[in-house]
Amino acid sequence: MNYRNFPMVPRVIFGRGSFNQLNDIIAPKRLSINAPFIFLVDDVFKNNTWLSSRIPTSYDDRIIYISANEEPRTSQVDTLVEDIILNTKERPSGIIGIGGGTILDLAKAVSIMITNKGETKDYQGWDLVKNPAIYHVGIPTISGTGAEVSRTTVLTGPERKLGINSDYTPFDQVVLDSELTKDVPTEQWFYTGMDCYIHCIESLTGTYLNAFSQSYGDMALQLCEEIFLTDNLSRVDAQEKLMMASWHGGMSIAYSQVGVAHAMSYGLSYLLGTRHGIGNCIVFDHLEEFYPEGVKVFKAMKKKHNIVLPKGICANLSDREFDIMINISLSLEPLWENALGKNWKKIMTPKKLKELYQKM
Ligand code: NAD
Ligand code: ZN
Repeated sequence: MNYRNFPMVPRVIFGRGSFNQLNDIIAPKRLSINAPFIFLVDDVFKNNTWLSSRIPTSYDDRIIYISANEEPRTSQVDTLVEDIILNTKERPSGIIGIGGGTILDLAKAVSIMITNKGETKDYQGWDLVKNPAIYHVGIPTISGTGAEVSRTTVLTGPERKLGINSDYTPFDQVVLDSELTKDVPTEQWFYTGMDCYIHCIESLTGTYLNAFSQSYGDMALQLCEEIFLTDNLSRVDAQEKLMMASWHGGMSIAYSQVGVAHAMSYGLSYLLGTRHGIGNCIVFDHLEEFYPEGVKVFKAMKKKHNIVLPKGICANLSDREFDIMINISLSLEPLWENALGKNWKKIMTPKKLKELYQKM
């Protein structure tokens, strides 16, 4: 047995209002006055002075507001990196991502591509990154993806949606200030929160499960059930707990894998642009066969929060379009192997997968 040796986020600050300490955290990391910090910030905060006035810029530091309406693309990373290199006197001191999974993934990818030649798409895959990234900080403003703790940055490229999985991907520093999540709209809160719940179910029922993953997965699952099914949590408690659930859910899949919902939702995302959180929910709702208990509880959570998922999103697709989704999905072999075991190809045939997509 050859065990994998994973890096983890080396520094994390947790607490309401901890965002105010950002300047103290990053100041010692400034390489020179000509080497700015670049803040990549979700543009939902553009006119939000409560947050933007507290972003600690000095010298040539820049804030770049980015829309999270679409999930990150490799070409978008290339454009950002070019812009940053052309407009800074020296290599930046660091990249600081403030937002959800979309912005956190962009921040990770940009920090890698500043020190690695060529195009971002060339690094989609496992352990293709050659040089360490520049210093990068992740500050989540919505909880659930685990992107703040993971070893990947999920990007849509010209050929596929696939992460840059590498030892250089994880953040050097994470700031967990649950107050930043206070204005997330309910539906988005549910979708991104369910990403965490689905990470737990897929990890805990997978064939790759081990005690490392299980310990984190059990904890995250317990937190999710408390957050999404009980009535006695205060808003602040719920926000703090979801932040920690996301962290633990991310840690759980680090040493195992996700499963059927993620494999199928990647297909939806690639073809239809369906966002990660809602896409996982749409798929998971139909996966009783694979996750009977998990789906039952999911439906209860959905009901409790009055969430109505879109229906018929695959209704008008052509055979060719189904084939594109099916190929994207089936190419994610580790996910299927984790979910269904070594003989997964016998269970999840293209025909079976098409029947599942047709229900959605
Ligand atoms: P997101 O970043 O796509 O944001 C969803 C929406 O919420 C956006 O409209 C955004 O503007 C809004 N939003 C974020 N914070 C807000 C706040 N505080 N107040 C109001 N609105 C706010 O959402 P997400 O679900 O966190 O991320 C999805 C992305 O994460 C996908 O691209 C997916 O591929 C990626 N992902 C990455 C990993 C990983 O390990 N790297 C894991 C899972 C998912
Ligand atoms: Zn996910």
